[in-house]
Amino acid sequence: DDKLLEIKNLSVIYKTDEAIVHAVNRINFEIGTKETIGLVGETGAGKTTTALAVMQLLPERTGSISEGEIFFKGENLLKKSKNEMRLTRGARMSMIFQDPMTSLNPIVTVGEQIRESLEIHNHDKKNKKELEARVDELLTLVGIQPRRKGEFPHQFSGGMKQRVVIAIALACNPELLIADEPTTALDVTIQAQVLALMAELKEKLNTSMIMITHDLGVVAETCDKVAIMYAGEIVEKGTVQDIFEGKQHHPYTLGLFGSIPDLEIETPRLSPIDGLMPDPTNLPDGCKFHPRCKSCRKICTQKQPEPHFFGAHMIACHLYAKEV
Ligand code: SF4
Repeated sequence: DDKLLEIKNLSVIYKTDEAIVHAVNRINFEIGTKETIGLVGETGAGKTTTALAVMQLLPERTGSISEGEIFFKGENLLKKSKNEMRLTRGARMSMIFQDPMTSLNPIVTVGEQIRESLEIHNHDKKNKKELEARVDELLTLVGIQPRRKGEFPHQFSGGMKQRVVIAIALACNPELLIADEPTTALDVTIQAQVLALMAELKEKLNTSMIMITHDLGVVAETCDKVAIMYAGEIVEKGTVQDIFEGKQHHPYTLGLFGSIPDLEIETPRLSPIDGLMPDPTNLPDGCKFHPRCKSCRKICTQKQPEPHFFGAHMIACHLYAKEV
């Protein structure tokens, strides 16, 4: 069994004084060893919340998993103690955030920050010299010259900072790497370089990856599988071929395709479809996408669509129900 991560029927809520936010609603997906899945959707679709649930880094006071299970190599992560989870997180899975400066300490040299993360998980008891060699190796791996390890984060450009963050995330040889919009804060040309680096590292290191993005272009370059999220649900799921070459699609996915910016002429990012994502404290009945869907029919306003399968390609939309 080469399943690395299995998400089963996962729901996540945030409780505020005023309301309950249904951020993720009964989602299912799995990742095999060495596989990359893209979680795609607009801001507020539940992508980051899903990642934080896997890492068990949801905000403690407000966020909680209300339903479902998360298996990592067959072990239910939700049954682990805080301490066991802390160890798992550091040694077997790590996360890269959108803005490199949220992960980097501005007053510590980049070499020291990589070394620290190596020391925390120094299970094979490397000595100082060996740790130093590993710092150099990691910097080289992400395309930074080791002689720069004595420099501070502000001495690096945005793209180089993100490379440092990637080196830190890789320090423990994670089996699962979660990248949350890792290139969104970067210039377009630098984005392409960082993505190419991530694709290369994935090949080299055999790491499985969750790539969170609003951009289907990123998915095409880095992913094996795709899950399209809308209002906390997975509305379409399949291989990259299913999504890019398949005949059937969820209307929301088609909207996302319509919004891929043309990098050559640098068009501003387009909104996929008219209208906004629904208020997660007050989700509409039926299909959550119905207020924005041009194909909406009566049943869509009343009944939540079931998943329909074309092989392993899943689409949750009434258009594909036989009786409609
Ligand atoms: Fe549109 Fe209906 Fe399909 Fe929802 S179920 S995406 S409203 S056609």
